[in-house]
Amino acid sequence: MERKAWAEPYRIKMVEPLRMLSREEREQKLSEAGYNTFLLRSEDVYIDLLTDSGTNAMSDYQWAGMMLGDEAYAGSRNFYYLEANMQKYYGYKYLVPTHQGRGAEHLISRILIKPGDFIPGNMYFTTTRQHQELAGGTFVDVIIDEAHDPASTHPFKGNVDLDKLESLIKKVGAEKVPYVSLAATVNMAGGQPVSMENVRAVRELTARYGIRVILDATRAVENAFFIKEREPGYQHKTIAEILKEFCSYTDGCTMSGKKDLLVNIGGFLAVNDEEIFQQARNLVVVYEGLHTYGGLAGRDLEAMARGMEEAVQEDYIRHRVLQVRYLGEKLQQHGVPIVVPIGGHAVFLDAKRFLPHIPQDRFPAQTLAAAIYADSGVRSMERGIVSAGRDPKTGDHRYPKLELVRLTIPRRVYTNAHMDVVAESVAAVYQEREKLSGLRMVYEPTYLRFFQARFEPLAS
Ligand SMILES: *Cc1c(COP(=O)(O)O)cnc(C)c1O
Repeated sequence: MERKAWAEPYRIKMVEPLRMLSREEREQKLSEAGYNTFLLRSEDVYIDLLTDSGTNAMSDYQWAGMMLGDEAYAGSRNFYYLEANMQKYYGYKYLVPTHQGRGAEHLISRILIKPGDFIPGNMYFTTTRQHQELAGGTFVDVIIDEAHDPASTHPFKGNVDLDKLESLIKKVGAEKVPYVSLAATVNMAGGQPVSMENVRAVRELTARYGIRVILDATRAVENAFFIKEREPGYQHKTIAEILKEFCSYTDGCTMSGKKDLLVNIGGFLAVNDEEIFQQARNLVVVYEGLHTYGGLAGRDLEAMARGMEEAVQEDYIRHRVLQVRYLGEKLQQHGVPIVVPIGGHAVFLDAKRFLPHIPQDRFPAQTLAAAIYADSGVRSMERGIVSAGRDPKTGDHRYPKLELVRLTIPRRVYTNAHMDVVAESVAAVYQEREKLSGLRMVYEPTYLRFFQARFEPLAS
């Protein structure tokens, strides 16, 4: 008999009870939260798929490490352990810890970007682009066209389009391109991977022009899993080997440890260039903390160092990505339109196809996220026109091609039975989709508006 069943590669040693409100209570909470799932209280949520950021369950090995925190202001032992593990798994020379990923984005953007520069990247990420713009740069999307098509089944939809990249460099001049901002996997495209062949080609092209490549390594371990699964020649390599080879084609990385590294807080900047390292080490004391703790406690550094070891374990990463796929395939069985191929950290509902009767300026994805919470207490988030924000020059909404709702799976937190409940709820909302008629924005913050914007339902 063929054995196909797989299970979580861990057993549960501590539990946190969940609470479920009634439909009336949930509608009340939604209205109080301005129909923005970011403004709900966690205790009012049943299954929380808002984000995989900092929502990880740590292992007993990590918790044991928390007791070994060396809380010295300078030169903590945990820093040196993290530094050694970063060199071992990611392969860069120098480490600057930061409180989370955006702390590292802030440092590298300030150091490398001059006003008037252009930063090409494989699709924007909210905080990454914000820091590039605050430093006076302009982000330019150079991802392949397939990434903007939620129905394209290209196996590496995160790839850089080399022609787009080279024509930008030729148009503005290499001296105006401080680095290529390469993310793997690409969050905003649906957790889509970049192939090894592509990162190698990006390295060759940028080397010809003397341009750096800075990796957003937030989910690079998940990217390594897809390379192992899909790219010829990598089936027999370990995840750790693939990760290190991938990083070797780049000059440094920003990292949100709150994703791949299985912690609740933490991040870092890593680089090979000593001059950039010296500048980052100097700036970090202004914005984060001393260069051996970067805004984190010693115990947080220890938990992140140990998470790095666990993240590359084959059974862990396989379960991680296959659990996401399990949810996605359930939704497909119900006929729900989702982004394909199913990505590494989340299932993305295609709100344009889910709610074709709601125009984009009535916020279809925001509407859908609110409706799912009202149905079952499952919390998701908008990744569409609200997240895309406004064009800083014209002040108009940016109208992204992708109008998505993200169901993001925290690592090691929920079982597949929770995934079954989520799939049933989304399918129920899909059956009743014609009853939804969109939202009106009644409060809009200046920066990263999706976090705090408020809405009211529109009458149909
Ligand atoms: C979360 C994230 C960041 C920012 O990291 P924080 O730890 O949230 O500051 C950057 N890039 C990507 C792709 C992310 O998902």
